[in-house]
Amino acid sequence: MTGDDAAAITVVGSINMDLVVGVAALPVPGQTLLGRTFTTICGGKGSNQAIAAARAGATVAMVGAVGDDAFGAVLADNLAENGVDVGLLRRVPGASGIAAIAVDDAAENTIVVVPGANGVMLELSEAEVHAITNSLLTIAQLELPIETVTAAATAAAAAGRSFLLNPSPVRSLSDALLAATTILVLNEGEAAALGHAAVARVPHVVTTLGAAGARYRGPAGSFTVAAPKVAAVDTTGAGDAFTGAFAVAWVQGRSPREAVQRGCAAGALAATVRGAGVSAPRRAAIDALVDATYGA
Ligand code: ADP
Repeated sequence: MTGDDAAAITVVGSINMDLVVGVAALPVPGQTLLGRTFTTICGGKGSNQAIAAARAGATVAMVGAVGDDAFGAVLADNLAENGVDVGLLRRVPGASGIAAIAVDDAAENTIVVVPGANGVMLELSEAEVHAITNSLLTIAQLELPIETVTAAATAAAAAGRSFLLNPSPVRSLSDALLAATTILVLNEGEAAALGHAAVARVPHVVTTLGAAGARYRGPAGSFTVAAPKVAAVDTTGAGDAFTGAFAVAWVQGRSPREAVQRGCAAGALAATVRGAGVSAPRRAAIDALVDATYGA
């Protein structure tokens, strides 16, 4: 059980506004060109995964920071509107995190990420640690300072709670972080970059395989779950939807196979919707696709 009124899942992660410009061709150095479209989309892997988990049906608390600019208010509202508890969200002086993204007609892109408020998350407050130690599961990615990710993992492990790491963007992981991680959810590129020896140290490893589904390796063995067949239009955000839905199934005490099936269903549904932050499906849609795909 969780302590007092703690959320089942705490997400420690990034919150960014994605500023997306559509152009015919990407600009070259020194060039000024006319863009065709401009969209702002609430993102950041932490925020996306928190929303994905809340939509999949768990109580979720967000640990992270936004700035005191206009984006900060929009980002905080977006989390709250999606059912994520923002009681611990830090609102700090200065700019919110942003990603400036240019996408051309061939879907090639360039991305500049400015951490902004995410960069102040250099240590965890007592209240933030309390949220972690009272949740069944804490989720983190690698878009916050790694010291903070490690502190969250260590706090969760010391309290006997589970810690799920989505090592993205990938970088090498310390012994302390690996030792405190219960579950890794990563794609094949991240698995290759981390190397077999590092991955092998974590008890439960889920490798997502895009349209081929996902593979699980744990104490009781390994298996692969095929992805549901869908008309994919945009797979950005599929991994975040997978992680959120998998995590919810895990805290509900479902088997690893069921958790991977629910992750695959959520990832497939997210791939049918354009945009990352907005694409995670709700519990009823996941239930229906799981039944249709994996039901007896
Ligand atoms: P990432 O975006 O992090 O690289 P993947 O591309 O592996 O992650 O996608 C995450 C999950 O989303 C996959 O394991 C799969 O279940 C689902 N998924 C992704 N693309 C598709 C697709 N084209 N069709 C069905 N499911 C998909």
